[in-house]
Amino acid sequence: MAHSWWQCMKSIFGMNNGIGRRSLRPAIRKRPLVTERQDNRTRKLTPLLTIRLSPESLAGDLQRTTGGRSGPAKTVEQVRLEWYGMTDVGSVRDHNEDSFFCTGIEDTGLFIVADGMGGHDGGEVASRLAVETVCNELRETAKREKDPIALIEKAVIAANKAVIREGNSKGSNMGTTLGVALLSEGGAYIANVGDSRAYWIKNGSISQVTEDHSLVAKLVAAGKITKEEARTHPKSNLLYRTIGSDENVKVDTYHLDLEKGGALLLCSDGLWGEVRDEDIHRACMAEKDLKAVCGRLVKMANDSGGKDNITVVAVRIM
Ligand code: CA
Repeated sequence: MAHSWWQCMKSIFGMNNGIGRRSLRPAIRKRPLVTERQDNRTRKLTPLLTIRLSPESLAGDLQRTTGGRSGPAKTVEQVRLEWYGMTDVGSVRDHNEDSFFCTGIEDTGLFIVADGMGGHDGGEVASRLAVETVCNELRETAKREKDPIALIEKAVIAANKAVIREGNSKGSNMGTTLGVALLSEGGAYIANVGDSRAYWIKNGSISQVTEDHSLVAKLVAAGKITKEEARTHPKSNLLYRTIGSDENVKVDTYHLDLEKGGALLLCSDGLWGEVRDEDIHRACMAEKDLKAVCGRLVKMANDSGGKDNITVVAVRIM
């Protein structure tokens, strides 16, 4: 299917029939943004275990694009997406500062997770504003931007400006993490700021796509602590890069080829802080239904303490 990103945005936001316009206004609402549009296709489920793929290494699939632009998209087989997203307040906190957004049609989809932070309702406002700004910016910028990496990068930068503006106007130190995945025939284009994560699950293994912008991730990279120690480290919540703190925010971007049988998982640290990667992988493989996958992951996080809000978006490539 030859298309422009503008056509993609029109498709996934249902702009031809107007559906979705109302829910995407950058108005501040009291409840966390949990917008889902599912067509019947997304409900047809196929076991994740029925994978028949060449045993390529994940390293070959993953192309870090920071500091450059992705090359021309490879010709890939026609794929179809199914997805499900879920958020949960957790077992300790009294309100949910995470926001997420899922929308998709056929082989094109947009998936966002944001984990807000800040006093009072600041975190909730920041994560919701970031998600809404990304949606609105993508719709606008897609009219003129052909490069998908530049498209999502500009949207994240716009979200950063919006959160800074909102924080300044309220005298709040609000901020948020932001993970954006735009999927189409050319693959998955992912942007990340903060420590919400994207994982790629394929060939019986799970791999973290995004880099956490946290102190503990730096300590792991320096060999001072292990990844397992980082998960439960008392300073695991210290982030050196977030949306809402620096006008000149640096956005990490990634490109991933989509292959049938693979799955992309976006989540806030409320999941990966409580559940080890291997157990996240096991849960994804154990359930056929993506709603059940998300439900199982949320339950596992809560069973491990549920100390933070938990958000999971699972996307399967069919
Ligand atoms: Ca969190």
